[in-house]
Amino acid sequence: MAETLKIFKIGGAILDEPAQLSHFVAALAQVPGPRLLVHGGGRGASQLLAQLGIAPQLVQGRRITDAATLDIVTMFYAGKTNKHLVAGLQAAGANALGLSGADGNAIRAVRRPVGAIDYGFVGDLPADAVNTGLLELLLRADLLPVLCAITHDGHGQLLNTNADTIASAVAVALAARRAVELHFCFEKDGVLADVNDESSVIERLTAAEYARLKAAGAVAAGMVPKLDNAFAALEAGVERVVIENALRINEPVKTVLCRS
Ligand code: ADP
Repeated sequence: MAETLKIFKIGGAILDEPAQLSHFVAALAQVPGPRLLVHGGGRGASQLLAQLGIAPQLVQGRRITDAATLDIVTMFYAGKTNKHLVAGLQAAGANALGLSGADGNAIRAVRRPVGAIDYGFVGDLPADAVNTGLLELLLRADLLPVLCAITHDGHGQLLNTNADTIASAVAVALAARRAVELHFCFEKDGVLADVNDESSVIERLTAAEYARLKAAGAVAAGMVPKLDNAFAALEAGVERVVIENALRINEPVKTVLCRS
């Protein structure tokens, strides 16, 4: 049986802070065994869009990925962010290899169907989206794959996909072949019972407790889709799912999800 794979997902705030990002990269390079990194985008792409005079497209409060936005996020996520992460990991001694979903057909998505809202060039992931053979090949070659959230549809169209969704899909797909741990890393120490109290980390979170916290509004905003993804991954065979601080991945404080 292959060694346990540790998948880390970073997003939002940390990507905008070079000092924090290098701290995370150095810590990731120290994690023993096979690793894989999935990253979202920071505020950089939004800033560049604003500088270029491309106004954010919002429909019913939802952000739309139009053609101009797709070009910029592709340049930013698949280019600058991905290559800086790869270079940082190389400097820290880990042989990282950066990929978009199009590279090696790593992640094939389907453009989200137009319903009440046309989200534009946004890709959802079907059950067979992840090229597990490619990722296993890279892991067996002791490479550390670094996946950005740009996918493709197999017909030449690049798509913008949620990075938490990619991390979950990759974890679930590879869990059919080996034990997988999935680590969602962000700027707090875990899921907080009180979002304004940094010390209120819930060490073990069950689905029932999550439902209660969500109904009470104690878990909200970006944490809701993140935990929906996280519990879905746990149900689908991922051995361990953790929500933790990107700056403290080697420390014990974190939220571990429990099946019951
Ligand atoms: P990412 O950093 O991966 O982009 P998001 O911004 O989408 O993450 O989601 C994380 C956010 O969820 C946190 O920044 C935090 O403000 C918010 N949040 C809401 N409720 C909670 C909670 N109970 N515990 C921790 N974070 C929470």
